[in-house]
Amino acid sequence: MRGISKAFTKNNKRAAYFWAALLAVPVLFLIWLLRPEEGFIRWLYPFFMLMCASWVWRLYRGVDLNRIERETIATVTGFFSIKLAYYLFWGNLEHNWVEIESTYWVMAFIMVLLYIAFDAREGLAYSLSLAVVTLILGLLRLGGEIVMGQHQSEFLAFVRSEMRLFAMAGLLYALAMVKDQLAMAHRRVEEMHTLARTDPLTGLPNRLALSEYLEGESHQAHGLYVVLLDLDHFKQINDRYGHNVGDGVLKEAGRRLRSSLRKGDVLGRWGGEEFMIIMRGDSQHDVLAAVERLREDVAFWPFDGVGAVSASFGVAEGHMGDSIHNLLDRADKALYQAKRLGRNRVEFSLA
Ligand code: GH3
Ligand code: MG
Ligand code: MG
Repeated sequence: MRGISKAFTKNNKRAAYFWAALLAVPVLFLIWLLRPEEGFIRWLYPFFMLMCASWVWRLYRGVDLNRIERETIATVTGFFSIKLAYYLFWGNLEHNWVEIESTYWVMAFIMVLLYIAFDAREGLAYSLSLAVVTLILGLLRLGGEIVMGQHQSEFLAFVRSEMRLFAMAGLLYALAMVKDQLAMAHRRVEEMHTLARTDPLTGLPNRLALSEYLEGESHQAHGLYVVLLDLDHFKQINDRYGHNVGDGVLKEAGRRLRSSLRKGDVLGRWGGEEFMIIMRGDSQHDVLAAVERLREDVAFWPFDGVGAVSASFGVAEGHMGDSIHNLLDRADKALYQAKRLGRNRVEFSLA
């Protein structure tokens, strides 16, 4: 389920990038047509248009999103740094100041993108580099003039913009750190959730996981089958060969059962040397035939260093309006019956 939603958001992101890049091409072309007198637009916009067109094509072809994100940010950063340099050093500064101011705002926007595409540390490194590059460009242009008392208002605006960029780099870093910490905490909770529901010996779902699953299925008990199985004379195996060998038998029994079941069937360790299988079946006959095959899979081949090991099975079928408690009780009684009737057999609860 989570995998599906992840893929869905990834596809959404791809679609958003695709349309944004596609829209950018005619917009850039229009600006290029309308303002041919600007050297910057005349020479750099065609290159930018080509880049956008290539992203459209590659997004369509399914190229890795992360790669495209990084390339886009690098290109856009380079593009606007050149724009800033162009308007700082080319032509009249007062006349160019509107463009310079707007470029600063775009730089601030790029910083947000940096923190989205990279992790907190990389985001900080890149956004600080961006702020430092703009600072150097501005100082090169305005540093000398301010000493001579020229362009004072532009210099003040430049200082304000720089302060905004550096403050944003810090603030975004703090936010990105919080985001990373939250993501890590979320991963930990997920790991603990899985750990708490996994049997460490067999790697199968444990009693808690099985109970939760049954609870989830309880609204539709009809057609639900619960199979309880218990290894026969397991205590003797432990006594004769030791606890470690007993553990090995439990693991191998779990593997054999898992490999014989269908994908949708749930297998778990109910406790000790008892396993549970939960399945949905169309007919009693099919389910019993499947359980009979499981019994053979356990008993037929000898276990390493131990020889033949068998198991007894109790099967119960859920009825309309049945409670999970009743269903389990019937499976348990059927298992008891299988033991009583000589073990290594399957019993079905008729109740
Ligand atoms: P029955 O055929 O009636 O089921 O006989 P049994 O010997 O299997 O039944 P009993 O309940 O008397 O013994 C179960 C044994 O399983 C006792 C316990 O020490 C052992 N056991 C439970 N959990 C584990 C485990 O994780 N590892 C090992 N090696 N043994 C375990
Ligand atoms: Mg037992
Ligand atoms: Mg037993």
